[in-house]
Amino acid sequence: MAAPWEDVLRDGAAIREAAAVAVDAALLQGVLMRTEGQPNASDVVNFAPFTLLPSAVPSALFEQAYAVQQDFNMLVDAISQNKEFLEHTLASTIKVDDFTARLFRIYTQVLEEGLAQSVFLGINRSDYMFDSGVEGPPALKQIEINTIAASFGGLTSRTVAVHGQVLKVLGKPQEASRLLPNNPSKGLALGIAKAWELYGSPSAVVMFLVEEVQRNIFDQRCVENELWNRDIRVIRKRFRDVFEKGSLDEARRLYMDGQEVAVVYYREGYVPSNYNEQNWEARLLLERSRAVKCPDIATQLAGTKKVQQELSRPGTLERLLPGHAEAVRRIRATFAGLYSLDMGADGDKAAAMAIADPDCFVLKPQREGGGNNLYGEELRQVLEKIRDSPQRTSYILMDKIKPRPAMNYLLRAHSPLQVSECISELGIFGVYVRRGSELVLNEAAGHLLRTKAVEHADGGVAAGVAVLDTPYLV
Ligand code: ADP
Ligand code: MG
Repeated sequence: MAAPWEDVLRDGAAIREAAAVAVDAALLQGVLMRTEGQPNASDVVNFAPFTLLPSAVPSALFEQAYAVQQDFNMLVDAISQNKEFLEHTLASTIKVDDFTARLFRIYTQVLEEGLAQSVFLGINRSDYMFDSGVEGPPALKQIEINTIAASFGGLTSRTVAVHGQVLKVLGKPQEASRLLPNNPSKGLALGIAKAWELYGSPSAVVMFLVEEVQRNIFDQRCVENELWNRDIRVIRKRFRDVFEKGSLDEARRLYMDGQEVAVVYYREGYVPSNYNEQNWEARLLLERSRAVKCPDIATQLAGTKKVQQELSRPGTLERLLPGHAEAVRRIRATFAGLYSLDMGADGDKAAAMAIADPDCFVLKPQREGGGNNLYGEELRQVLEKIRDSPQRTSYILMDKIKPRPAMNYLLRAHSPLQVSECISELGIFGVYVRRGSELVLNEAAGHLLRTKAVEHADGGVAAGVAVLDTPYLV
């Protein structure tokens, strides 16, 4: 199902005019990023990369993705409370993957001490591609679920107006009026506000834990501003600040510079390069505190690729969500084939299968942030080398999803305007809040469509490969 503007795609003059309008509209609407040269100052900014045209998304799959989001929220929350499952699932991974091992150590340490935190806030984004398969209609297949620092909920709300204007410029006003409004940052802020309220200290602040390099600050500001609009104070700090100025009182309330912190919202802390020894110490301090961490360390672990692979084993979802047969069915319908590479006969078989047919699989390490996966010939070479070594257990194997490409223009600063064959990835934001054992909020908060040229196997917007997009339902 193609979008109804194929006719204009090759009309060079119309496209150039539309692109000029699009870039200015993006700047006006706030589809912004700081530049690579000046990542920590807003004196010079540019537009965040985006598609010239919205991309066609099958409406049935779009609805399916929304319909399963509350189930995924519930599942992630259940995993985060299941010590036995996390221990068992990550046992092989933490033997070979130092980063996951280090997170796991903090997890065990805070459990041993006893949790001071009693309100829990989850913000995640479940990402999908539309598998075109051999025959029949395309199917919704989950790529992964991000349980920490899921980004672009702010900027994505602003692409709708840009794409609407582009369609009008191209003589498609009716199509423009069909674009759906979308504002994940509002939903995320509602979750943060709820957690802040349940924490119960009106003078306490929300702390955004941010990276040293802050190119994507405007995306975060969208969430921040929603909180300020609700008269909730927001501070932005780095691990370094927490190490230097963070402290706990006897009730393990968290203070920064003497200011009590109710909620810690991580936009940092998901890759090894975010940590040095001081940052690990800061992370431990935060995790030990009573403050609501979004996510807490258990929920971060629930988002690992090893957990995702384990969920696909027959019977696992049923054990994690007893009495929720319908939710289990909806969740399972989105799973692609996932395979463990743990030592043993099953792992041997999976490795052999991928080596024999590398173009049908993706080899994934326990990493986030894009650009880490292996495909095709590289996958085959790496797997050949480690197939008999425990090192292979630091990866999981996944069926490769093959979406049908569509033509579009990817607009990037300082890049020529050229048409590309593109594929898209749809993300749905989920938000939930739990107090003790009671789930008091469980919502789908909006969506994100990212599109990239087919020649790039991997990589997100922040990695410079994918660009922001708006779904056009067909
Ligand atoms: P990360 O945590 O690095 O974002 P992902 O699992 O999302 O890891 O993979 C990164 C990118 O690789 C995805 O955005 C997608 O473009 C591509 N990718 C991942 N898994 C698959 C798959 N099974 N089939 C096709 N492409 C995939
Ligand atoms: Mg991803």
